[in-house]
Amino acid sequence: MQILNGVHQIKTPCPRSASWSTNVYAIEGSDGHILVDSGWDSQESLWALQEGLKAAHLKLRDIKKVVITHIHPDHYGLSTKIKQICGAQVAIHKIDADFIFPRYKDFADLMQKTEDLLRQNGVPADELPQLVGASLWMNKYVTPDLPEVKLEDGDVISNGSFEFEVLWTPGHSLGHVCLYERNRRFIITGDHVLYDTFPHVSFNPQSGGNPLANYISALKKLESFNVHFILPGHGPVFNALGLRIERILQHHEERKRAILRTLRDGLKTAYAIAQQIPWTVNGADTAFRDLGVWDKRMAVTETIAHLKLLTKEGRVSNVDMDGASLYLAKD
Ligand SMILES: [Zn+2]
Ligand SMILES: [Zn+2]
Repeated sequence: MQILNGVHQIKTPCPRSASWSTNVYAIEGSDGHILVDSGWDSQESLWALQEGLKAAHLKLRDIKKVVITHIHPDHYGLSTKIKQICGAQVAIHKIDADFIFPRYKDFADLMQKTEDLLRQNGVPADELPQLVGASLWMNKYVTPDLPEVKLEDGDVISNGSFEFEVLWTPGHSLGHVCLYERNRRFIITGDHVLYDTFPHVSFNPQSGGNPLANYISALKKLESFNVHFILPGHGPVFNALGLRIERILQHHEERKRAILRTLRDGLKTAYAIAQQIPWTVNGADTAFRDLGVWDKRMAVTETIAHLKLLTKEGRVSNVDMDGASLYLAKD
């Protein structure tokens, strides 16, 4: 689907959910086309990409660059196969580039660190293996390889017709980038700003020390951008970036208040807090015990991210007791 003159959105499927898709953007250029994000590494995804390019009257072999907004499998997964097919260069932020092999190739150390983190944050022993292994199925849909280009904040990517400024927007992933087209006044936001979902921000072994603090300052940096269109990694294209950012910031304030309420009756682990606060799955209120294993793990790591931010703000403190990390409200 043509979004703007020379900018096409191609929806690629998720292997586990018929209702969830990844937006790939094909940007026409006089010096070769750019693909932003790639979708999961699956036959269906490659097929959707080929069909989308065909509908846009573009050819896969004319893709010269594949720019990846972040390391997650739904964005990065297919990039190596595309490179093998058409010889394009793959570009990803230098931080996420360094995470590729530890995440998708030699991941024993990452699994161990995830297990330690979840145990320390109160996940009971009998639930640990399930939660630790909850993301393993995704590795099947990624072909890991080092990128040809490691991006940094402020880099400029051009294809002769469009010029994108790389904006480092850590939070959803530590090496997440958005691509800003100053002249045409649009921005490709990956999973940093979405229209109908609050982007997931979790504390994990690859997230850096305070992912939510990073996320919020990266959001605020975009607030004053004068763009007409926001092209996200999932869901519809939209406008009014400032309003959407306001709503996301408000959401995190609500989450922090909900967490603080659970601490009124004493100190708790992140796991215990996650069991007491409301969760939403596909728009429906869902109790923690009814979440699937992947959602449970995201709920715990997201709660830790909020607790790290509350700690930084001086509103909670953190003590370690018998190997467990406990939080208590300061006032
Ligand atoms: Zn993502
Ligand atoms: Zn995504």
